[in-house]
Amino acid sequence: MLDDKDRIFTNLYGMGDRSLAGARARGAWDGTAGFIANGRDWIVEQVKASGLRGRGGAGFPTGLKWSFMPKESDGRPSYLVVNADESEPGTCKDREIMRHDPHLLVEGCLIASFGMGAHACYIYIRGEYVREREALQAAIDEAYDAGLIGKNACGSGWDFDVYLHHGAGAYICGEETALLESLEGKKGMPRLKPPFPANTGLYGCPTTVNNVESIAVTPTILRRGASWFAGFGRANNAGTKIFAISGHVNRPCVVEEAMSIPLKELLDKHCGGVRGGWGNLKAVIPGGSSVPMLPAGVCGDAIMDFDWLREQRSGLGTAAVIVMDQSTDVIKAIWRLAKFYKHESCGQCTPCREGTGWMMRVMDRLVTGDAAIEEIDMLHEVTKQVEGHTICALGDAAAWPIQGLIRHFRDEIEDRIRAKQKGRASAVAAE
Ligand code: SF4
Repeated sequence: MLDDKDRIFTNLYGMGDRSLAGARARGAWDGTAGFIANGRDWIVEQVKASGLRGRGGAGFPTGLKWSFMPKESDGRPSYLVVNADESEPGTCKDREIMRHDPHLLVEGCLIASFGMGAHACYIYIRGEYVREREALQAAIDEAYDAGLIGKNACGSGWDFDVYLHHGAGAYICGEETALLESLEGKKGMPRLKPPFPANTGLYGCPTTVNNVESIAVTPTILRRGASWFAGFGRANNAGTKIFAISGHVNRPCVVEEAMSIPLKELLDKHCGGVRGGWGNLKAVIPGGSSVPMLPAGVCGDAIMDFDWLREQRSGLGTAAVIVMDQSTDVIKAIWRLAKFYKHESCGQCTPCREGTGWMMRVMDRLVTGDAAIEEIDMLHEVTKQVEGHTICALGDAAAWPIQGLIRHFRDEIEDRIRAKQKGRASAVAAE
């Protein structure tokens, strides 16, 4: 378990003062000008050496991503865009950072932007996050007033501005290129890649889009050292990580822990365990609604990191852990997600627009048991036609939870259909 002294987000529960004075007392903005004085390459190399992988879901190495930005300007400005459109069902980790430790994010924006040669950063925050927006704007204003950002930020000679932009409630705007479209004032629809944002991003300029947590951890990585951060977690899965745990545990919570913590330890130590005890566990979605669930039989060995979960054909995703006990109707739970993805599809590519509707309609029948047994295979085939055949990852996100349901709970689906058929046959016989 992570020691308190190793926590980056020391005000995650809002027990302390989130203002600049409080943030400074906890170590924020300490040595920032010195990091900038070390130069762009030093910052990028430190982040690479830390092993930080993107905290928004994909897990791409953050320092490597920063290194894709042009070294020399071709006359176009470069931008950092922070993805604060946290909308993945079950996920509320960035919310806690922005509510209670907003200065770590603002400081991270300056450091990351300087590392990529960007004089401006846009933070795109989910429209429903009103309190978080207020807390973040207050932190930005304080940082301007104190000379930490703006002209000659921190006395470094680097001019730097932060703009806070709020979305309007579309899940798809959390996809990086849809987010850029939305920032430009257009309908939030994902772009075809290539070109990639590092070359042609916001307003056609070099842009890197990073998750809130990825940016907010960077000041502490520089202060405490890349090797300190790399010392947590298994190889290739470094660092501390914020987990948001909900569902059938005794105390749902958001907590920062070491990467690669066993799932059982995470739930027992921070959530008071599974409701009714570990034996009452039915399944866990380990990384937000887009990743396939793990059945209870696998959960006892589960290690919460990118690579272990991928080997199990699941994923760490946003590290939103959704726990389901034996009382859960897992078919209905996944049906609910299918409905969500159908609703949130932007509709511009056929496999997603039509496939999410197909999947939801078959799931409608599976929930009530009114489907035919053969429809289970047909549904699986539809998920395969959607997976990997769409412009953005929403298609995969819609397909994977259903694949996980069929893989692990096929018996339960078949039992429901047979029970319904038996009930119908009995009713006919009684007539
Ligand atoms: Fe839009 Fe779905 Fe295609 Fe993504 S996969 S671009 S959400 S239609």
